[in-house]
Amino acid sequence: MRVQGITAFRSRSLLLDQSREFRPRWAVLGDSEARYTTEGFGDTRFLQGMEYADRLVRESDVDTVMSAIVGAAGLSPTWAAVDAGKRVAVANKESLVVAGPIITQRAQETGAQLLPVDSEHSAVFQALQAGRKEDLRRIILTASGGPFRGWTRRQMVDVTPDMALNHPTWKMGRKITVDSATMMNKALEIIEARWLFDIPPQQISVVVHPQSIVHSFVEYQDGSVISQMSPPDMRLPIQYALTFPERIECPGPDTNWTQPMNLDFEPPDLDAFPALQLGFDAAARGGTCGAVLNAANEIAVNRFLDAEIRFDQIPHLCKDILCHHDFDARPSLRGLEAVDAWSRKEAQRWTT
Ligand code: MG
Repeated sequence: MRVQGITAFRSRSLLLDQSREFRPRWAVLGDSEARYTTEGFGDTRFLQGMEYADRLVRESDVDTVMSAIVGAAGLSPTWAAVDAGKRVAVANKESLVVAGPIITQRAQETGAQLLPVDSEHSAVFQALQAGRKEDLRRIILTASGGPFRGWTRRQMVDVTPDMALNHPTWKMGRKITVDSATMMNKALEIIEARWLFDIPPQQISVVVHPQSIVHSFVEYQDGSVISQMSPPDMRLPIQYALTFPERIECPGPDTNWTQPMNLDFEPPDLDAFPALQLGFDAAARGGTCGAVLNAANEIAVNRFLDAEIRFDQIPHLCKDILCHHDFDARPSLRGLEAVDAWSRKEAQRWTT
């Protein structure tokens, strides 16, 4: 494997460190506002502006694109990679949540291969190798339950940003950590799974599994349930998306079979975590729903972190915006961008 290019938005020093280590042909800093120097990049061509990411992923010597930009901003370069028929490792779930119907359709036309990086979807993808698609009964996504597992809807009122940012098993970025606490992350993953595996939402279930060892299940017609398990560490699913169908030695930790281990599973509490139901609803309705839910949630999370709204108001805000949007069952990429912008604006001015 050779790194052809890397991108960041504002993390110039990290981009620089990685350029020195991997010597890619190009390094893109998405932020086109600030002035940066090209100093220190050596043979790596330094470019500024997100449009370069879209352009460079299409180059002929790029065969695999790791789509790992946070949020809806990842949609455009992911679309470019799919449009160019690349193998796309999808870490940016938002591109499938927002534009699942058109991305999967375009992938079929161009021969682009979509490989999941999200740990649950990687697990489903791995478990799907055990049987035929037509024999599938359902997939069961596992959820850690986040820091507020077992809490009631009433208790959620007092959750502060610090409490929400303290995840028990996974160490992740701020946005996804809050999404994990509201279980909106699982809601988005239901939509992601719906498109990635072309499976109706009635065939998707969620089970809470606090240890985050079993990363998801696939259940076949004969009742056989296949799971994938490994310690909670993203290096394995990231690597598998790059090496599939091969398996190579992974730097992540191995399961420790010499110690006693308990694995717990419990049904999710839809009353305490109403975000989950929004995921099922948005996946069932399709069209513009994923884009609206995702955009409203991004703003809601920011407003919660800025102490403008309460924790329990995040799903409330999202539901309101979802219910009031101009639904389109077959939106274009342009239409999705418009509805995304509308949803953000509404979410920004939302009050109870
Ligand atoms: Mg996940």
